[in-house]
Amino acid sequence: MALTPSRNSVQPISALDLRAQRARLAGRIEAAIARVLDHGQFVLGPEVEALEKRLTEFCSARHAVLCANGTDALVVALRAWGVGAGHAVFVPAFTFAATAEAAALVGATPVLVDVSPADYTMDPASLARAIPVAREAGLRPKAVIAVDLFGQPADYSALHELAQAHGMKLLADAAQSFGAALAGRPVGTLAEATTTSFFPSKPLGCYGDGGAIFTDNEDLAIRLTSLCRHGIELGRHMTVGMNSRLDTIQAAVLIEKLSILPEEISARERTARLYTDHLAEISVTPTLRADVRSAWAQYTIQVDDRDRLREKLRSEGISSAVYYPEPLHAQPAFAGCPVSHGGLPVSEMLAARVLALPVHPYLSDRDIERVISVIRRTAIAATYAVPTAAAQGEL
Ligand SMILES: *Cc1c(COP(=O)(O)O)cnc(C)c1O
Repeated sequence: MALTPSRNSVQPISALDLRAQRARLAGRIEAAIARVLDHGQFVLGPEVEALEKRLTEFCSARHAVLCANGTDALVVALRAWGVGAGHAVFVPAFTFAATAEAAALVGATPVLVDVSPADYTMDPASLARAIPVAREAGLRPKAVIAVDLFGQPADYSALHELAQAHGMKLLADAAQSFGAALAGRPVGTLAEATTTSFFPSKPLGCYGDGGAIFTDNEDLAIRLTSLCRHGIELGRHMTVGMNSRLDTIQAAVLIEKLSILPEEISARERTARLYTDHLAEISVTPTLRADVRSAWAQYTIQVDDRDRLREKLRSEGISSAVYYPEPLHAQPAFAGCPVSHGGLPVSEMLAARVLALPVHPYLSDRDIERVISVIRRTAIAATYAVPTAAAQGEL
């Protein structure tokens, strides 16, 4: 039965358009997968090494170690530094759970730090207040995991200073920011070690799970590789390692996708600019710190009546998402974690107000206009109150 589109029917606007990306690559992914099927080296095949080389060229880190997912990447980095029981690992309260999970999985205690109301990444002032809290709890401050939330690199110079002053390692969780940069330096080189994820919805995603760790430190790279491959070094099991590798097929897919990542990020940037131009007066739009280039994994606005707007977008066929509906301390798994002195008011405020709009690279101008127009119409109907600069400053 042929369906006649009704006068109101419109193309849905999705959060992710992997079909359009695949069409753009015009058979290259299929050909790359077919080559792996032909040579048959499904684990540690030649594409794995080739991808490691291309990733290091792309982000100018000296070493890239591929692993099974972004969570393992964090775990392996912490293990390589000897982070474990009795140690405090400082993580933002407003992030995906994996950041804190990794700390707990190595036996350390995640200590929750608030984020900045300006850019939603770890607030260095809240980190400074969290260090004495950890000490009072009998924990040794050992590592900080900064998260480049929604694609924007965290404030690494301030975090680095604090980490160094307290003898802590600084790990960059760049699961959402691969391809971004800070002061002209690419993500991958902004901390002693940087992890990323190739989960399909990340800026650089494969067709399953995948992850990587970047570092300039050769000894660390050797330890990371060994931990990912059952602790093997020079043919012997030197430490208790893990099985965490990126499948050759996924590496082959990523080699093709990496070649178009810069153009994809430019397309996301253009969409972000259009959204900001048209939504800044009716919502709180994202702000980038000076000298930052975001990978725009998400374009996240803040509104008062988030759930109503979300429902309105849904009724018009437009996907939106809430990252994250609850800060970590509201989740049962992390409810017992020590919290920075002064609490986590920004994380709590954001969890109640944020809404992520479609920002994938294959949105048409018409799609972007439709998203803007639905939000503007809904906003005008509800006369959203935009918090004043003074009210935001109080947070
Ligand atoms: C996606 C994500 C991870 C985890 O990556 P997986 O590959 O899904 O394990 C870690 N941290 C952040 C901030 C993420 O967004």
